[in-house]
Amino acid sequence: MLSLTKLLCNSNNFGDDLRYSKGAAQCKYGVNFGRGPVVVWNCTRQCNLKCLHCYAEANNEKCSEELELKEARDFIEDLKMFNVPVILFSGGEPLLRGDFFNLLELTSKLAVRSTISTNGTLLYKDVCKDIKSMNVGYVGVSLDGIGSRHDEFRGVSGAFDKSLKGIRNCIELNQRVGLRFTINKHNFHQIEEIFALIKEEKIPRVCFYHMVYSGRASNIIKDDISKEQRREVMDLIIKKTLELGPKFEILTVDNHADSVYLYLKALKEFPNKANRILQLINSNGGNRSGMAFACVDYKGDIHPDQFTWQYTFGNIKQNKFSDIWKNSDNSILNGLRNRKALIKGRCSKCKWIFVCNANFRTRAEVVYKDFWESDPACYLTDNEIGI
Ligand code: SF4
Repeated sequence: MLSLTKLLCNSNNFGDDLRYSKGAAQCKYGVNFGRGPVVVWNCTRQCNLKCLHCYAEANNEKCSEELELKEARDFIEDLKMFNVPVILFSGGEPLLRGDFFNLLELTSKLAVRSTISTNGTLLYKDVCKDIKSMNVGYVGVSLDGIGSRHDEFRGVSGAFDKSLKGIRNCIELNQRVGLRFTINKHNFHQIEEIFALIKEEKIPRVCFYHMVYSGRASNIIKDDISKEQRREVMDLIIKKTLELGPKFEILTVDNHADSVYLYLKALKEFPNKANRILQLINSNGGNRSGMAFACVDYKGDIHPDQFTWQYTFGNIKQNKFSDIWKNSDNSILNGLRNRKALIKGRCSKCKWIFVCNANFRTRAEVVYKDFWESDPACYLTDNEIGI
C-alpha cells in the first residue's frame, strides 16, 4: 500500500507507522521485529454479489469447510499472541457469516485491531451500530464505479445504492469508513467522479487497487488498463491527493511501481518533497507478501497474500498459524522472503528492486507461467528502471 497522502501531504494515519517504520523492510516474519504480519482472513466464501474480479471466487452458498466458531476463536487468540497489528476480515462477504459478531466481540475483548472489507450492501444502521460497538478500526467498502458501472462489475443491479447507503450509515455513526476501487478499463475514466463523491459525502479514505489476476480476475486480464493509462491514472490520483490535502487519506494498492513513479515525478515537479518520499519508500521495502502480509482462507489454509491461493503453507486446523508462519520450510514462502536471488527478467535488472521488491508474483505467474518472472503490470520505462 502506498499512502500518497502520507508521502505528499505529511499526514499520519493508522497504518503509516507500520508501512514506513525503520527496519520494517528487513523484517521477514512480520510488519516489524517482534510483531506478526497483517493477516487477511477470508472468514467465509459466501457472498450476495457476483463480482467479475473476485479473487476468492465467492458464491452465494455457505461452504461446509469454513472454520467452526471454536477454531476461529483459537485462531484469533493465536494472532493476539503473535502480536499481529491487525486482522482484516474479508470474504466472500464477512457480514454473511452467522457468528461474525462473536468474532468481533473477541477481537474487541483481546484489543486486537480489526478491520472489515465488505461490499457494503448489508451495512444497515443497526449493523453499523454493532460494528462501532465492537471497536472496529475501519470498514472498507468496495465501490468500483458510479451507479450502473459499479452494478455491472458487481453483477447485481442496485448494489451501488445499497453500498452508498451503508457508507452513509457508517459516517452518521462516526464509524471510520472508506472506499476500495479496483481500477480497470471500464471504470478508470470515473476516478474524477470518485474523488467528487468522497468530497461530497465526506468519505475520509479511498484505496485505488491495481488488478491482480487471480480467481475470477484471471478471466478478465484483457480488462486491465494499459501502461499509458496507468501513468495517466497515477497523474490524476497524485494531482487530486495534493488538492485534497491531509484531511482525506488516498492510497494506491498492489502495484509497487507506484512508489518509484511518484518519486520520479516528484523529482521533476515538486523536488522539495522528493528526498522525504525516497526515504519513506526505502523504509517500506515494496511488496511484502509472505513477510509482513499473510492470508488465511475460509478453510483455514495459509497463503502469502489474498491473491496467491495457488500456494498453501499449512492449515490452522492442524497447526497454529504462528508456528507455520515462523517455521515453514515451504520453498515458495522462503523464496518470497529471500526473493532477490530468484527474481528473473526485467525486475531482476531493475535499479528499484529494493524499493518495489519485484511487485506481485501472481501476476507474473499468470501471464508468464513462472512465479519468479517480472511483473507484467510494471509501467515504468526501461530508462526509468535503469536498463
Ligand atoms: S521493473 Fe520490477 S522491480 Fe522494477 S519497478 Fe517495475 S515491477 Fe518493480
